Amino acid sequence: MRQRLVAGNWKMHGSLPGNQGLLEAAAGTAARLRGAKCAVCVPFPYLAQAQDALAGSRAAWGAQNVSQHAKGAFTGEVSAVMLKEFACTYVIVGHSERRSLYGEDDSTVALKAQAVLAAGMLPIVCVGETLSQREGGATEEVVARQLDAVLGQVGVQGLRKMVVAYEPVWAIGTGRTASPEQAQAVHAFIRSGVARQSQEAATALPILYGGSVKASNAAGLFDMPDIDGGLIGGASLDAAEFSAICLAADRETMERA
Ligand code: PEP
Repeated sequence: MRQRLVAGNWKMHGSLPGNQGLLEAAAGTAARLRGAKCAVCVPFPYLAQAQDALAGSRAAWGAQNVSQHAKGAFTGEVSAVMLKEFACTYVIVGHSERRSLYGEDDSTVALKAQAVLAAGMLPIVCVGETLSQREGGATEEVVARQLDAVLGQVGVQGLRKMVVAYEPVWAIGTGRTASPEQAQAVHAFIRSGVARQSQEAATALPILYGGSVKASNAAGLFDMPDIDGGLIGGASLDAAEFSAICLAADRETMERA
């Protein structure tokens, strides 16, 4: 059975005093989980704080971006090896905000995923279509193109250490969630695409859903057979909401066990 994961994406939010409560709550929630895992992906400057607060707990932490380069004259960038020094488990790559606001293309995202794997961490690779692509019937084509670029780079071996997050762009931060059936259809499409390369890797691949997940809609999404948890933006900044979402993923895990 695939392990469930709920990962918070704090985006560019937080402060040293304000983070402490969220981190303590994440550690407390993780201690209550019997089958699912929880993680928080924090801004770079807060990685040391996350490491201090969560080391020894059952909550994991990670980053939201990484350079595709190993080192060098790349002012403002952060390498995968640097993130590993802070004991990150996960690194989000290819978030739609990185793609749309910072011009990250499929091949850059693929190189970033490879850099994360090479440093011994798990990339959370984000894929998803815009509203006009969905309305134009191009959802599968877009998601397949984004994923194929990564698979071409990391191969089946890399797939075994990867998490995919399906995040329809029209659902991120908009309050408009994909219905469980809409999300399940794309998750099943992703898994069947991976199965063409390796049935075993496809069966093991955690595929998270992201896009306006809240405590009130999490259980319906996590009830779907190919939805293995969530990547949570806004709701991860509210300790009670985030905890309830993690517990919803855990309930689904336990009911299937
Ligand atoms: C995200 O940032 O990955 C995300 C899914 O955001 P939100 O939950 O706020 O839609």
